[in-house]
Amino acid sequence: MSLPVNRDTVGDWMTRFAASMQEHREELVRLDTAIGDGDHGTNMDRGMRKALEKLGASEQADAGAVLKTVAMALVSSVGGAAGPLYGTLLLQLGTSLAGNDDIDLDAYAAAWRKGVEGVQARGKAEAGDKTMVDALLPALQALEQASDLDSAVHDAASAAERGMRDTIPLVARKGRASYLGERSKDHQDPGATSTYYLCQTAAEALAG
Ligand code: ADP
Ligand code: MG
Repeated sequence: MSLPVNRDTVGDWMTRFAASMQEHREELVRLDTAIGDGDHGTNMDRGMRKALEKLGASEQADAGAVLKTVAMALVSSVGGAAGPLYGTLLLQLGTSLAGNDDIDLDAYAAAWRKGVEGVQARGKAEAGDKTMVDALLPALQALEQASDLDSAVHDAASAAERGMRDTIPLVARKGRASYLGERSKDHQDPGATSTYYLCQTAAEALAG
């Protein structure tokens, strides 16, 4: 049995994601130190702390408003590539879900499609470029192929985890890691890793 996707469950998702970014901060720093500038863990932890502050400061009308508030907090407090990209993902998700208090699997998957398209429009990364898109695309595919919301959010998390692991052998073609060329091989992408945690916490918060 899946839970309703509403203001409270999406708020729980964002609270869990913030806790996950705190818990995995050092891991994300380590991954970004290997192929970037080492700030991904601190960026995401700082951004999600800010997001929780904003969520606590005013009443959110619906699930869409929760996601838009988090998106704005990330954009304004996270420098670097990931802040605006996560901001775009969550803003598109939030805009698609705003004013809808009967969010079914179709609406949820359609919102994710808008979000992933937004990330790709902004960052121009394709599958295989060794970015967060490599976790997002399989997650989206899983959501679109699922038959109920409960299995959808679980399948999306498993698909994102596989996408994350599959970044290890890739040569980066976007972002800072691309400056390393071949030397970016044999490292897991930090942004794909935080995206897996986003999908994992969605499964925890939205599945029964
Ligand atoms: P920065 O690279 O500016 O220091 P972060 O370290 O916070 O920013 O985030 C790095 C992550 O951002 C990468 O691991 C990658 O997943 C993601 N990323 C970078 N550039 C792009 C892009 N053009 N499209 C999608 N994701 C990207
Ligand atoms: Mg970085």
